[in-house]
Amino acid sequence: MFRNTFRKLTICSVVVLGWVLPTSASAELRIFACEPEWAALAREIGGDKISAYSATHDKQDPHHIRARPSLIAKIRRADMVFCSGAGLEIGWLPLLMQRGARSKVRAGKPGYFKAAQHVSVREKPVVVDRSLGDVHPEGNPHVHLDPENIILLARELAKRLIAIDPENASVFSANLRNFEKQWAENIKQWRKQSASLKNMPVIVHHKSWTYLIAWLGLKEIGTLEAKPGIPPTASHLQSLLRTTAATKPKAILRTPYDQAAPSNWFSQKASIPALVLPFTVPRGAKPGALKTLFDNILSQLIRANG
Ligand SMILES: [Zn+2]
Repeated sequence: MFRNTFRKLTICSVVVLGWVLPTSASAELRIFACEPEWAALAREIGGDKISAYSATHDKQDPHHIRARPSLIAKIRRADMVFCSGAGLEIGWLPLLMQRGARSKVRAGKPGYFKAAQHVSVREKPVVVDRSLGDVHPEGNPHVHLDPENIILLARELAKRLIAIDPENASVFSANLRNFEKQWAENIKQWRKQSASLKNMPVIVHHKSWTYLIAWLGLKEIGTLEAKPGIPPTASHLQSLLRTTAATKPKAILRTPYDQAAPSNWFSQKASIPALVLPFTVPRGAKPGALKTLFDNILSQLIRANG
């Protein structure tokens, strides 16, 4: 009897909670991230005061996706749009914004957050020649693989979350403090772990790894793409093989979404490993995923360096 009443009560409270929760959940800030790393950073700093959705997943090329109706529906409800910028999403984000973004996530508002505007962008071309098909006319947009950039962006994000939702300012500030402390510790550890990687010569498929390479002090001695965004051609690969014969690269790096054939071909000819490194965190990743991303990349590089 008692047990039955208890069970009824439990069921009752679940029902009541189920009814209450959507109301409190709707008070969360909705963050529309273009790439999973920004959704992950938003979860670190926003905690349970935000919900973050990523338009792309870790096996998807963020340069090229379709502006699907489901994405328009998501961006319509967003309180913040958080993207890499520097032209990375030029092929699809403007279309999504046009179709549904509210004024609070438009340029100039705290809800419009482009990472590349808050870090120093590498490889800014002196002369832009779009006819050559360069997908990086504003410089290299893949800024997330420098852990020092992550901390700058965490701070900027906290500032913006506080501006949008001042009631939760103390939560965002506390989350930022914890994240900063932990991240500084991670960087110290990664530095120690990766000291042997300095000057490691590598070839990359696309210029996805520029910030990581600069941070670790690796040497990028060639790209399989003749120009960023131009698929590798047989003649370019042949000439790269000749020119890099003396520099002895240790590995070829590519993302999970780059074509496999060019780096496999090069790997066979030059007898060096073709590494598929994780480029970002899985979509919907829990806090801590950004650390795991760098841990995984470093351990693969250290293994390849021998
Ligand atoms: Zn790119």
